[in-house]
Amino acid sequence: MEHEEESTEFYDGLLVPGFVNSHCHIELSHLKGRFCKGSGMAGFIRQINSLRESSPKEERIHALSQQMDQLYESGVSAMADISNCEESFIAKANSKMYTRTFLEVFGTEPDSASSIVEGVVELNAKATIAGIDAAPTPHSCYTMSPKLLEEVSAHALSAGWLSYHNQESWEEEELLISGQGPLAEEYRSRSLSTPPITGKPSLFYFLERLKNAGQVGDQRILLVHNTSATRESVKEAINLVKNLYWAICPLSNLFIHKSLPPLAMMMEEGAVITLGTDSLSSNDLLSMAAEIKCLHDYYPSIPLEQIIEWATINGARFLGKESNLGSIEPGKKPGIVLISDIDWKKMQLTTKSKTVRLV
Ligand SMILES: [Zn+2]
Repeated sequence: MEHEEESTEFYDGLLVPGFVNSHCHIELSHLKGRFCKGSGMAGFIRQINSLRESSPKEERIHALSQQMDQLYESGVSAMADISNCEESFIAKANSKMYTRTFLEVFGTEPDSASSIVEGVVELNAKATIAGIDAAPTPHSCYTMSPKLLEEVSAHALSAGWLSYHNQESWEEEELLISGQGPLAEEYRSRSLSTPPITGKPSLFYFLERLKNAGQVGDQRILLVHNTSATRESVKEAINLVKNLYWAICPLSNLFIHKSLPPLAMMMEEGAVITLGTDSLSSNDLLSMAAEIKCLHDYYPSIPLEQIIEWATINGARFLGKESNLGSIEPGKKPGIVLISDIDWKKMQLTTKSKTVRLV
């Protein structure tokens, strides 16, 4: 007992379990600082098409490895990451952070669906060889032919996990509801096929494709962004999918669209919310603390305790890792993170707050 004083450490801040970053594209880390803000969805697509391979492969791999390390040190214990290629596989296999990789595909022309599916099946085999958890996943309603969306969703459903960019922008909604708007014009100008005009929010269209793709049962499904989600579409999705999660990436939404998801409505509807950083093509930094601070700024009435659940246990549940990660309980090894510079009166993070992994 006499040594107790020496063995006890004191920290000024808040101790929380390791974070789960539920949406990232780590392979886009080399694009930090390259994108114009407020471009909207069509502008963002134009930028990514021109910049995606603008740095050499070694630089891209160096950038993503650095970000993986920084995420782990800042307290991220697990991550749901989107990949379109194999560049992040080795870094993931070597990382102390648990990752599940969503091998995302797109392709607007129905004729190319079969070859795209063949390609992602090959990529999946490479992920298996690298020893990481991975499966194919569809990107979004506006970047895929209905045929490709259904075929890739079928692969995701049989793997048990699906992550999908949902209702990210009003432009996407406009495209599905009326066939008009900047996305529709962008696609027409490049002579690309567009999804059918349904007159309804885009999420209804996705749920129809999902039903065609296979039996929706215990699979874990993540809808990412939800910036333009409506109450009727949220209700419909919750009715259909048992294990449904809603990832929000506030700083990315502000970066591209200058808008944020309707959180009050989503919470009223009982949506299970998770938090993600998205990528450095649409964010200045990959920081769970910065995302939490952003939520304080725009939704000051949401308690920190609730946001911490979004940033930890809800993401762990989506990944199927809740028995080991996401909360501080006996038998678990979630990692322990110190959040410094808390405003104790408001019980919020401040602009000075930093997170550091203690365990
Ligand atoms: Zn994304």
